[in-house]
Amino acid sequence: MNIHEYQAKEIFRSHGIPIPEGDIATTPEQAEALAKKYGGTVVVKAQVHAGGRGKAGGVKLARNPKEAREIAEKILALTIKDLLVKKVLVTPAADIATEAYVGVIIDRASKRATFMVSPAGGIDIEEVAAKTPEKLRKLAVDPRYGLQTYEAMELGFFLYDDVKQVRAAAKIMQQLYAAFVASGASLAEINPLVTTPDGKVLALDAKMVIDDNELDRKPELAALRDESAEAPSEVEARNASLTFIKLDGNVGCIVNGAGLAMATMDLVKYYGGEPANFLDIGGSSNPEKVVTALKIITEDPSVKAILFNIFGGITRTDDVANGIVTATKKTPLAVPIVIRLTGTNEEIAVKILEDNGFTALTDMDEAVQRAVELATAKEAA
Ligand code: GDP
Ligand code: MN
Repeated sequence: MNIHEYQAKEIFRSHGIPIPEGDIATTPEQAEALAKKYGGTVVVKAQVHAGGRGKAGGVKLARNPKEAREIAEKILALTIKDLLVKKVLVTPAADIATEAYVGVIIDRASKRATFMVSPAGGIDIEEVAAKTPEKLRKLAVDPRYGLQTYEAMELGFFLYDDVKQVRAAAKIMQQLYAAFVASGASLAEINPLVTTPDGKVLALDAKMVIDDNELDRKPELAALRDESAEAPSEVEARNASLTFIKLDGNVGCIVNGAGLAMATMDLVKYYGGEPANFLDIGGSSNPEKVVTALKIITEDPSVKAILFNIFGGITRTDDVANGIVTATKKTPLAVPIVIRLTGTNEEIAVKILEDNGFTALTDMDEAVQRAVELATAKEAA
């Protein structure tokens, strides 16, 4: 789960990380009032679940309350990476001498929380990693001991020469690690971590992704979810207990089980196609789940063909077949569909589908190949 910058900042602050104060405005007038309260120059920042807000015009300095109002009005009308801006954070502006990057993520290769730091902060860290990898330093944390002071100092020396700043950064990294662990995060990031002309080290941006599996045991974090800031398709999928991840291709995949989803996506790629999504209807499907799954997939204009790949164990393939029939009766499909199902109640499922004018395949290779061909042809048409 993504949370907003202002929410991540609150968590970081509660662990002692130095961050300028700030508050949320949903109207230009509120932004003006906050700017008046803080006095001096403020920063007005779009609160959306996307990086690169600065480049998209979502982070602006305002020299006085009137300017804060005008800027807030503009930012509140923005769409950044398809996300509507509904709130802005207003915070006193800091003077910046340098910008660094500090982040901690779960690294699957080392199976550890891993720090990544770079003195080249403020910009996209992916870009730093690709173009100037020597400016990026990694350190995997041993979960038994946490981020040790000597390790944090070593990372700090990679960022700064001044030992005072190194110590300040080291402390911030240990606090960041504590926040990361306590929140069950999969990512916690400060970009930029700045130094001010008078030598202070401050976090000016905060990003955090909470592992969805933590939310049941951490209701106070679950409460941070802002559905209005999420893609409608993702909200719909979650409320229907579907696992849905949007991807960049054009073959809409509906499968049951994460392993089969992976195998299906691999095979789509193998046959030269690109999956448009990862949609898992899970183990015990009912027809309504299938109806919702089809609704989500068909609402995506980039989907040029739909591929069902169902292996019936606990999932009854006749349930899936009924779901497909119900959904397509309600809303006829605008793109071709390929259905492959095998397993529990397969004969019944095939009959239901054929009685309703669908073809059902049992071979996965054949089904995937056909779906890729149909998507490619539809794309060209
Ligand atoms: P992002 O683009 O979504 O990562 O948003 P950031 O919060 O990182 O802001 C982008 C850039 O705006 C930063 O890298 C800074 O250069 C600048 N910025 C943000 N806050 C301040 C501030 O308080 N003072 C100044 N002078 N610049 C700021
Ligand atoms: Mn940033």
